Amino acid sequence: MSTKEALAASKVVRCSCGLEFKAPGMASEAERHLIQAVKRHAKDAHDLDFGDEQVLAMIEVVA
Ligand SMILES: [Zn+2]
Repeated sequence: MSTKEALAASKVVRCSCGLEFKAPGMASEAERHLIQAVKRHAKDAHDLDFGDEQVLAMIEVVA
């Protein structure tokens, strides 16, 4: 993957309720924030406790 492609890509997590969480780029910092946001939403909206691994498994990389 080139640097340009890495910058254009983003990571998306789609919750079962239809909500989308996006993190721009491939930076691990952004991914951490994405995981935290999903975990917070799962707890607040669905009373679900997601682990980091579970959220990681839900991440889709889109161009
Ligand atoms: Zn949800």
